[in-house]
Amino acid sequence: MTEELNPFKIAQQELDSAAEIMNLDKTAHTLLREPKRIINFNIPVKMRDGETKVFNGFRVLYNDARGPGKGGIRFHPLESLDTVKALAAWMTWKTSLANIPFGGAKGGVICDTKNMNAYELENLSRGYIRALGRAVGPKVDVPAPDVYTNPQIMAWMMDEYTKIVGHEEPAMITGKPLEVGGSEGRFNSTAMGGMYVLRESARMINLNLKDSKVVIQGFGNAGMFAFDIATRLSGAKVVGISDSEGGIYDPNGIDYNKLVDAKKKTGKVQGYDKGEKITNEQLLELDADVIIPSAIENQITSANADRIKAKIVLELANGPVTPEADAILFERGVLDMPDFLVNSGGVIVSYFEWAQNMAGYYWTEDEVYKKLDAIITRSFNEVTATQKDYASRGKKISPRTGAYIVAVDRVARAMKLRGWY
Ligand code: GLU
Repeated sequence: MTEELNPFKIAQQELDSAAEIMNLDKTAHTLLREPKRIINFNIPVKMRDGETKVFNGFRVLYNDARGPGKGGIRFHPLESLDTVKALAAWMTWKTSLANIPFGGAKGGVICDTKNMNAYELENLSRGYIRALGRAVGPKVDVPAPDVYTNPQIMAWMMDEYTKIVGHEEPAMITGKPLEVGGSEGRFNSTAMGGMYVLRESARMINLNLKDSKVVIQGFGNAGMFAFDIATRLSGAKVVGISDSEGGIYDPNGIDYNKLVDAKKKTGKVQGYDKGEKITNEQLLELDADVIIPSAIENQITSANADRIKAKIVLELANGPVTPEADAILFERGVLDMPDFLVNSGGVIVSYFEWAQNMAGYYWTEDEVYKKLDAIITRSFNEVTATQKDYASRGKKISPRTGAYIVAVDRVARAMKLRGWY
């Protein structure tokens, strides 16, 4: 049988195996295998040349038993409903594992932002919110940034929503710029949360992060800050880094500032003038203590999982490791920390932003990071405690399965209490 790479089928497979191990109620399982609501719409957008172009958009509310939907909006040329459904499912597990009062959702538009100017992007962003109207809102479903969307886009969306409801409602969307109700610390929060999980993981396996070798796949928001924070806070050495065009390897360590300069000047990390040029495939198999996939789905599969040399795989991207690869890594004793724990820092600080907007009272960056650390470390401990609990009953489970059990159980209990089954 060939390996399943459809993200939604993968999300269902992961749920199914957790459901079996934890003996999940059949109706709860059925409810959790599919989204609660899918909105699919056209967005007519006036382009700079005066023509109107029609874009296809989606918003999937996967589950809202624990609170309003929560999750980002992706603007991507290869967007598909199945990818958005999978990501909405993962948001449901992410908010549940973090135990913040939200369900899971995700949105997307099929579009190529690299070929759109600011005027067109603004019209598209406003059109997206007009199409949804009151299907989003602080107590309904709360969007945020994701692949190729950013704080500016959140500001336009919030402004458009204000016109629809007739009053200010900053809590309807998160990841906003600070000037219009954003939170301190939100921009770096995904990478920061990942670093707290790395700290706990390293402690658990007695790996000293100082001078350890780290490899990062991807140099977007998550990968770039992960590089900066990992080297500054833990003294680790980044020996490999890539973007979609390829990577570089330097066993003596890559200089962050020089890399950022090179990327700015040439548009790619391979513009860095030291080290050896390598492919994205070679990058993942480098001799390193930690690898941090921070790009896209399906990067570690059954085809390369047995060649991963790292002790820790830290999944900062959504869906970078397939279920088959997860099983192989677990079997080989590689500690693979799952995406919906590792990258939950983004949505945790989104929750703080929402709470600050609701209260109209704002916190310092220091307060934000302290609270983030407390929540994500608690999640880490709950995952490892669940693994230990199952092991004591003769069932060895991976961190991903442990995380699923904690998250699914919480959502199922909320559905039961609401009388959905
Ligand atoms: N897009 C981020 C994620 O996948 C953040 C979502 C949010 O803040 O709602 O977790």
